[in-house]
Amino acid sequence: MSDIINNNFIHNIIKKDLLKNPKKKINTRFPPEPNGYLHLGHAKAIFLNFNLAKKYNGTCNLRFDDTNPKTENLKYIKSIKKDIRWLGYLWNNHSNYTSQYFKKIYQYAKKLIKKNLAYVDQLNQIEIKKFRGTLKEKGINSPFRNQTIKKNLSLFKKMKNGFFKEGEMCLRAKINMKSNFLLLRDPVLYRIIYKNHYHTKKKWCIYPTYDFAHCISDALENITYSLCTLEFLENKKLYKWILKNLNFKKNPPIQYEYSRLNLEYSILSKRKIKILIKKKIIKKWNDPRLLTLSGLRKKGYTPNSINNFCEKIGFTKQNSIIQLKLLESCIRKDLNLTVHRKMAILNPVMLIITNYPKNLKEILKVKNHPTNKNMGFREILFSKKIYIEEEDVKKKILNSKKKISDIKIKLRYAYVIKIYKIIKDKNHNILHILGKYKQNTIGKKLNNSLKNKIIHWVSKKNSIPAIFKFYNKLFLKKNPEKEKNILNIINPNSYYINKGFVENSILTYKINTALQFERLGYFLYINYNIKKNFLIFNKIVSLKQKKYSNKF
Ligand code: ATP
Ligand code: MG
Repeated sequence: MSDIINNNFIHNIIKKDLLKNPKKKINTRFPPEPNGYLHLGHAKAIFLNFNLAKKYNGTCNLRFDDTNPKTENLKYIKSIKKDIRWLGYLWNNHSNYTSQYFKKIYQYAKKLIKKNLAYVDQLNQIEIKKFRGTLKEKGINSPFRNQTIKKNLSLFKKMKNGFFKEGEMCLRAKINMKSNFLLLRDPVLYRIIYKNHYHTKKKWCIYPTYDFAHCISDALENITYSLCTLEFLENKKLYKWILKNLNFKKNPPIQYEYSRLNLEYSILSKRKIKILIKKKIIKKWNDPRLLTLSGLRKKGYTPNSINNFCEKIGFTKQNSIIQLKLLESCIRKDLNLTVHRKMAILNPVMLIITNYPKNLKEILKVKNHPTNKNMGFREILFSKKIYIEEEDVKKKILNSKKKISDIKIKLRYAYVIKIYKIIKDKNHNILHILGKYKQNTIGKKLNNSLKNKIIHWVSKKNSIPAIFKFYNKLFLKKNPEKEKNILNIINPNSYYINKGFVENSILTYKINTALQFERLGYFLYINYNIKKNFLIFNKIVSLKQKKYSNKF
């Protein structure tokens, strides 16, 4: 691990603690709620918790925070485990579930009631909200706040046994309705929910809130550092209050907060991703335009690139919006070293080399990587008809100030070609281009005028049709999390496809191999349609940094 993970403020806290108590255990946990798929923000939390545990020989638990059966689901558990493994992390022993502590948490609730620190409130949710007050106005005590302990115990038991409807009653901590902190104004600890829980089935109809369950689960698992994002800063007071009053006094877990990950032009919130799916903007959680881990994986991101990204952004208490180019530079850097180079044409224009013998079988031996010899060579069959990029035709041929007969281009790894005619249809669309090759120009030193005329190509004989899928940013605004309605800022051009050709040497590669198409970018080979004989690729990232602007 590099200095960044070693030098963040949490690390400094641990170092200090270890100076005082060298035997202190460093136990962390990653506590996802199984109500959606993991995203890049979760990767940040995973990176932090698992790497701290590893560094200090501690443990990191995976605990599913499953206290709300209304939104939680086994399919999310499966996907969360898959994503964590994919990132390369192993959790301590088996995975834990808050639901496995429901019985204990219930006993702890009774303990608070017995200490006269919790009561069953019969106000409904609207009244509770009204009585809570605001930042400016103090709260008002519920008329049920001073019920006897006996009554509270009996009502709580009845709540558990299904005597009441949802929302009719709830258990609240008795803290202080006049506190400056809204969260300390008698927060709800238990609510009634009639919904089958995927683990506990119909056993419970009351469920602890996040605030009540989380600190108790941390304490039961001997977590020493309970790391969460900054919006839980105020919850920390409640976290401490609960543990103190439940007598978890010896080495209680301590909560520390760090800033949440935000990325420009992206949303991470699971609730908002669900809106996009519901409104059919995207089909699934693994859409490559999302920053879910399954979406990034589908696009072609590697675990290494994501871990490097988490390391680069670091851990602070400052909220900020990270630039997309940082994420892109991480995958570019990873793939640059590891993937084979190939040639592909995204928008083909045919170039016919009229002086090239039709039946000549000339095979070019081309390196798979410019610097890594171990990646070997492939053979490309040159031919009279080749495909070049429409954009190159525009920029390097049509835009040239020279007479058409003076225009030369250099085919990468192959010949210098002299262009002499552009054949167009009656609507001025280019049909094809005619050129003549100059013999003995392979591997020869180029004069300066040709240096910026080197273009990639594929030969007709040596290529196979391909579909290229492009995924752009999903939103038109830099900070979509701030928007009232994300549906108003959807980029209409976030997905498109191109049809072109790739070298057929790619047929020898396995599906899910990443490749660099020279001059174009990194692509993931995702499928081969054998029946129709074409390959499918996802664009992962361009070769150079893109400038992001709001203009399209
Ligand atoms: P969302 O807002 O996407 O629903 P969440 O915080 O509700 O996220 P959880 O499943 O409760 O999702 O999160 C599990 C852990 O991941 C928590 O410790 C949480 O703080 C952390 N986490 C979630 N989102 C981010 C983020 N954007 N940046 C850093 N950590 C995050
Ligand atoms: Mg949550």
